[in-house]
Amino acid sequence: MTPIDVEVLIVGAGISGVGGAYHLATQMPDKSFVVLENQESFGGTWRTHTYPGIRSDSDLFTFGYRFKPWKGDPIATADKILTYMGEVIDENDLDRFIRYNTTITNASWASDDKRWAITATVVDPETGSTETVTYRTSFLWMCQGYYRHSEGYSPTWDGMDDFAGEIIHPQTWPDDLDYAGKRVIVIGSGATAATIVPALATDCEHVTMLQRSPTYFSTGRNSNELAEMLRELDIPDEWTHEIVRRKVLHDGALITRMSTEDPEMVKTELAAGIKEIMGEDYQLDPHFTPSYRPWHQRIAFVPDGDLFHAIKDGNASVVTDEISRFVEGGIELASGEVLEADIIVTATGFNLNVLGDIAFDIDAEPMNFADTVTWRGVMFSGVPNMAWVFGYFRASWTLRADIVSDFVCRLLADMDEHGRDYVVPVLGEAADEMSFTSWVDPEDFNPGYIQRGIHLLPRQGDRDPWVHTQNYAHDKEALPAADLHDGSLQFF
Ligand SMILES: Cc1cc2nc3c(=O)[nH]c(=O)nc-3n(C[C@H](O)[C@H](O)[C@H](O)COP(=O)(O)OP(=O)(O)OC[C@H]3O[C@@H](n4cnc5c(N)ncnc54)[C@H](O)[C@@H]3O)c2cc1C
Repeated sequence: MTPIDVEVLIVGAGISGVGGAYHLATQMPDKSFVVLENQESFGGTWRTHTYPGIRSDSDLFTFGYRFKPWKGDPIATADKILTYMGEVIDENDLDRFIRYNTTITNASWASDDKRWAITATVVDPETGSTETVTYRTSFLWMCQGYYRHSEGYSPTWDGMDDFAGEIIHPQTWPDDLDYAGKRVIVIGSGATAATIVPALATDCEHVTMLQRSPTYFSTGRNSNELAEMLRELDIPDEWTHEIVRRKVLHDGALITRMSTEDPEMVKTELAAGIKEIMGEDYQLDPHFTPSYRPWHQRIAFVPDGDLFHAIKDGNASVVTDEISRFVEGGIELASGEVLEADIIVTATGFNLNVLGDIAFDIDAEPMNFADTVTWRGVMFSGVPNMAWVFGYFRASWTLRADIVSDFVCRLLADMDEHGRDYVVPVLGEAADEMSFTSWVDPEDFNPGYIQRGIHLLPRQGDRDPWVHTQNYAHDKEALPAADLHDGSLQFF
């Protein structure tokens, strides 16, 4: 079959891929490109997850793109995020670039051809029949996210087969799950568990959040006072969006700094938010007193304190204990207590999947991503013409999607100007001079999915440009200013 030739190929039509398509179409209108997406429509994370209550945990002023004002409440449901993304696609006529139901399986770089050869499987949604298609592209823009969409991570516990009820992972929530009047246990303590518990609480007989260890939660109204004020003054939406973004970033940077400089003060503030709902005498220990310092893992925002209202109303409760085993009627805990359940939800996280389950090779040598060193968190040593959008843990992912898009467009324009076909980050002497660490410093940020998959991720060095900072304030200055011709990138 004749390959389809495009100059740029974007993998994935989630928030990163749709953003990439927007920036490419507007900043480089003459470039030919496609976006290949495995699912039947756009949205990525926001299409995959359909569990009750599914919503963002960061604000949409910064999770939204910088170029399209967000006009709703800060925390948004998946439906609202999909509507927003759909508007971006419609308003910019991006649909013509996106191919759905298309899963990339192989990517082979050939230096003599100066291109990637891409193999993908296309499923006909009507008949289920499949065909293989091939593309050739100069530049591969990886917007495939960081976790496997087809299945979530669930540990194996003794006795799971003995349990008489249903075991559900939030990532594969059945549309027809009837939980009305049922006793539900949600295993987990992160943002997903904190979203599902209040969403189920009103209809279930009772829902128990079973956690091995607690998480920090911040509470507050799902509204932004500054945005409300600016809207009342009839300020243009574009201005409101930009001003509120700056305020959110300013406040976020302050919390991050205070979490390091004065973690006790931050802990007291977070505790005060919970006590405001639960009452002054409410005992936070053991359910809401993590052993790590705030921001070591993402602080989960609970809009309008709904999780705590569900607990206060008696519809939900929290148990902090180890699981000993599953039994026919529920879960037996290390303490010996048995929690009774009809449904068990395992909100236990993701499986990290760094390159979208695509088999990569470079000049016929299989590529091991973990052997590479990152160039500013965007490109990788020894890997030609490839960029990856990996967003922030402590700030909205999309902030990085926008600045990486600017970078990719600048790089492509520079290559066009200098008549170059491909670019490869090359460590050279830096390899001997630097010490190397993991993609993410576990002392700084250590959620389970990163700990489980850190060995799959590229490494970073100890100095620019070989670092992955996870710091938007740094990147928003450094990436646009990065010298493309300092020798760390080699052009051919
Ligand atoms: C429940 C949940 C809530 C979250 N909330 C927030 C939040 O509030 N704020 C925040 O900043 N971050 C949040 N995150 C992190 C979130 O994943 C990112 O913010 C963001 O949505 C990632 O976008 P993406 O486009 O990079 O990747 P994804 O959303 O993962 O999309 C990648 C797309 O690529 C496709 N794809 C993958 N491999 C292939 C392949 N081989 N071939 C073809 N297509 C492929 C996938 O089908 C998918 O559609 C959340 C994550 C989850 C799971």
